[in-house]
Amino acid sequence: MMRVSAILAGASALALGAVPAQADELRDAVAADMPALVTLYQDLHANPELSFQEVETAKKLAARARALGFEVTEGVGKTGVVAVMKNGAGPTVMLRADMDGLPVIEQTGLPYASKRRAVPATGIETGVMHACGHDTHMTAWIGTAQQLAARKDQWSGTLVMILQPAEEIGEGAKAMLDDGLYTRFPKPDYVLAFHDAAQAPAGMIGYSKGFALANVDSVDVVVPGVGGHGAYPHTTKDPIVIAANIVTRLQTLISRERDPLEPAVITVGSFQAGSKHNIIPDEARLQITVRSYKDETRQQLLEGIARIAKGEALAAGMPEDKLPRVTVQDPYTPATYNTPEFTDKVMSGLKTRFEGRVFEVPSVMGGEDFSQFYRADRENVESLIFWVGGVRAGEWEKSQKGEITLPSLHSPFWAPDAPVVIATATEAMTAATLDLMKK
Ligand SMILES: [Zn+2]
Ligand SMILES: [Zn+2]
Repeated sequence: MMRVSAILAGASALALGAVPAQADELRDAVAADMPALVTLYQDLHANPELSFQEVETAKKLAARARALGFEVTEGVGKTGVVAVMKNGAGPTVMLRADMDGLPVIEQTGLPYASKRRAVPATGIETGVMHACGHDTHMTAWIGTAQQLAARKDQWSGTLVMILQPAEEIGEGAKAMLDDGLYTRFPKPDYVLAFHDAAQAPAGMIGYSKGFALANVDSVDVVVPGVGGHGAYPHTTKDPIVIAANIVTRLQTLISRERDPLEPAVITVGSFQAGSKHNIIPDEARLQITVRSYKDETRQQLLEGIARIAKGEALAAGMPEDKLPRVTVQDPYTPATYNTPEFTDKVMSGLKTRFEGRVFEVPSVMGGEDFSQFYRADRENVESLIFWVGGVRAGEWEKSQKGEITLPSLHSPFWAPDAPVVIATATEAMTAATLDLMKK
């Protein structure tokens, strides 16, 4: 998942990292589990695996779920895990954690920092790091499984806990659904997950109602030209000039064509062409990220990109058989929608439990394939993903004074206050599930 910006900006009045000292049986039980959970976290952190390579991770956690009494199936959507616990009549609740690390060389200097290396899809070996904090998600997933397994007398229904592969490449959720997540296993009424947040103090909970994260499309544009000598441009069709015009005009899709009240982003992240001062190349290449919330906005932007690419080439005099080739990566990451009623229900419970620590925050233009679980059956599935802040108290204070800049998610320096994230998330996920499945 991408960075969370400006989350909980108004939360400065809080006793950061402090947990209210009120007697609470669930909170005490989670606290008792924490030493073992921190050990598990450090092991997961030291041993990250890349997308669709989460073999050891899945095996390790599947064994733990099995030991807790779940019926566990491995290898769902390549490396995914589904753990089911049936406990009488009632709703089906699905809890999701994602498992993959990133091709990042860790630079936190932590004693349990990852030294792992692996080969991603690019084919070039790299370091691997849990730079998005999915290790906190998995640890809290186990923490929650432990609490719910120990409290079977307090809930009724079917609990489906899943470990999803390959969130970072946006393919894991779809892979699990395509492999029968909703047909081979009980289909959920409610789907719940959390993500750690690198721009919020540890122990804070943030949520957005409705659209929370964006549609993410990757678009490639290959712009043919007619190459030649740089001194004789009139004998060529310069693809750099055509592509440069495309880049500029694409911004009018945002500024002139899109409804200003509909958020959207077009960023040309890569522009490549040519090899030497005095040669006009015969091709230019653009790589573009396109972000939106509504399906209609997405469609409008993608059609606009194709139209502008073609139009600029025609304007430059390129023939019909040498027009730009526009490719939209498939699958894309669809926008994440937190169904409003369900969001209100869960958050009103959490606001009571975590008094002063739960805030509604602006949605972001990052993406999450958690969205797929809702989109697979919008009529019958309600879903919510919320944030759990992970910035250490001292660092948060310094950042508020402008003394340091906080690393974002995916940074080689991102080192969340893992015990606080895990304890908060375990308690929140357990409490929310117990509330949904109350006897
Ligand atoms: Zn990520
Ligand atoms: Zn993530």
